[in-house]
Amino acid sequence: MNKNDSYDLVIKSPGRINLIGEHVDYNGGHALPAAIDKVITLKFKKNNSNDVTVYSKNIDSQFTIDLANLNRSNIEWHNYIIGVIYYINVLKPKSVQGFNCYIDSNLPLGSGVSSSAALECGIAKGINELFNIGLTDTEIINLSKDAEHTMVGTKCGIMDQFTVVKGKKDHLLLLNCKTSEHETIKVDFGDYKLVLLNTNVSHNLATSEYNVRRSECEIAMKTIGAKYNDLDYLCDVKPEVVKEFKNLLPEKIYNRALYISKENQRTLKAVEAINRKDLNTLGELLYKSHEGLSTLYEVSCEELDFLVKYTKKFDQILGARMMGGGFGGCTINLIHKDFVEDLIEEISNAYRNQFSIDLTPIAIHIGDGVKKQS
Ligand code: ADP
Ligand code: MG
Repeated sequence: MNKNDSYDLVIKSPGRINLIGEHVDYNGGHALPAAIDKVITLKFKKNNSNDVTVYSKNIDSQFTIDLANLNRSNIEWHNYIIGVIYYINVLKPKSVQGFNCYIDSNLPLGSGVSSSAALECGIAKGINELFNIGLTDTEIINLSKDAEHTMVGTKCGIMDQFTVVKGKKDHLLLLNCKTSEHETIKVDFGDYKLVLLNTNVSHNLATSEYNVRRSECEIAMKTIGAKYNDLDYLCDVKPEVVKEFKNLLPEKIYNRALYISKENQRTLKAVEAINRKDLNTLGELLYKSHEGLSTLYEVSCEELDFLVKYTKKFDQILGARMMGGGFGGCTINLIHKDFVEDLIEEISNAYRNQFSIDLTPIAIHIGDGVKKQS
């Protein structure tokens, strides 16, 4: 497969940031994500057969599957695609026919900007358009999440897929992960910019610890819900109520619950701060979020902690925190536009001296959700 072949359809599927509200999606909380202008480009062509052939330029590898024989693969990236096709067929039997797909991406893989959801939703959207299947956005969101749960094994919440599909240029999404309702919030940070710093590390704890956190939250909720049976999710529990359980929960479980409860409140406070253009408060909330993720939720790592701590000495940086599942990936930073270049140079040198790894800065703009290239 070649990028210069002719194609029937081109889909652009974005990654996402999450300004604040980390790990709250599977706890029924509020997150504040947005789609970004870094995308996976997927070129589709019907091939009039019963086979699907997909080439990823980023992995420089290709595979073919028989639609009559959709089995899980031993190779991770195949499973995002196989999973999506499988679940489309569950909803709309025999709707998917043979096609070729050429994938190229400027989204870093495994760095917390959700290349996985971009891949799933891009494939789902492309198949939907190519074969006129009539899937709704909600169906695409949910089947992509199901594919990641069962075929890949990451028990992710709904935030990533929701944002990839529903993202809106220049807007954050205030997403209520319990009801899947959202509001759009126009972003105007004035002289400040959002910049991602990619640690370029991805500790292999990420998937397993993600699922452990999920079950730790369930354990906490079981104990809290036994007393407060009108509460269903950790994000329904106020921090004062979590504190009643300090001696009733194992310390680790208590810390997880306290982080989640506070983080959900921080998202709502961040929205209020944005609405009143109080960027100092927004920045402080980002730092508090990171502290909670690092000390109570324990999903950070020394590289992420180093970067966030380093930014604290500059007045031109209002806030920073790790973003995404953790154990590597990116930090998100709110920086004065005139200081971005200096900061990047200085922090890249410091990071290289400390870890012998190159940092990748990623300037981002808030873009639209997955769509057909016009
Ligand atoms: P994140 O979603 O934060 O990028 P994940 O670990 O959830 O991190 O997903 C990354 C995985 O998604 C990759 O390891 C790969 O399997 C798959 N993936 C993402 N983008 C591509 C791509 N362009 N080509 C092939 N596989 C991809
Ligand atoms: Mg992912």
